[in-house]
Amino acid sequence: MITLQGLIAWLKALAEVYTGHKEYLTELDAAIGDADHGTNMARGFTAVDAALDANPVNDVQALFRLVSMTLIKTVGGSSGPLFGTFFMKMALNLPAGAESISLAQFCEACDAGVSGMCVIGKSHVGEKTMLDALVPALTAMKAAVAADKPSKEAFASMVAAAEEGMKATIPMLATKGRASYLGERSIGHQDPGATSVYLMLNTMAGML
Ligand code: ADP
Ligand code: MG
Repeated sequence: MITLQGLIAWLKALAEVYTGHKEYLTELDAAIGDADHGTNMARGFTAVDAALDANPVNDVQALFRLVSMTLIKTVGGSSGPLFGTFFMKMALNLPAGAESISLAQFCEACDAGVSGMCVIGKSHVGEKTMLDALVPALTAMKAAVAADKPSKEAFASMVAAAEEGMKATIPMLATKGRASYLGERSIGHQDPGATSVYLMLNTMAGML
């Protein structure tokens, strides 16, 4: 079971996580993009933290809607609309008024979030993007839930898959986003967006 309070604590904690990793993420983006990913994520999740303080939410739908709107308004770049869409699709695929959700409901909502991201990004797995950490993480989580694993174990396998997916972006050729402008020169660098996804899920697993 994942509670509203747990989700709020996780999303608020991301402000510090992305602020602490701002330089690192920006360095990764400097190699294959325009050196703004760390700033984008730190700005977005600092705004999420502030929005959650200013607007009390009473259910998971309202929570993810607020996160989505805040990220779309503040992150900028391609990652703003991509993460914004992810959280909006999650909101739309969770039961109205729920103060807690099961791991299975969480997986279903994430599935919808990933589909939304693929549509808006015109992208799929294997193109050296955030999807390369997110999709294997979700697949691992779904397998753990289907096998009735305890939630600690399910979260641990989700994070391990996210980390593996993030590292697997290093040898990939980028075919989407700014990194794709580099062609073959994008090979040998870890994708910043996939790294952000890993940080997001690693924080979640450490807290929920
Ligand atoms: P921008 O590329 O506009 O400067 P950011 O630097 O904040 O935006 O985010 C870059 C990240 O966004 C990339 O590392 C990649 O993971 C992700 N990304 C970019 N384009 C796409 C896309 N079409 N589909 C999925 N993810 C994408
Ligand atoms: Mg960038």
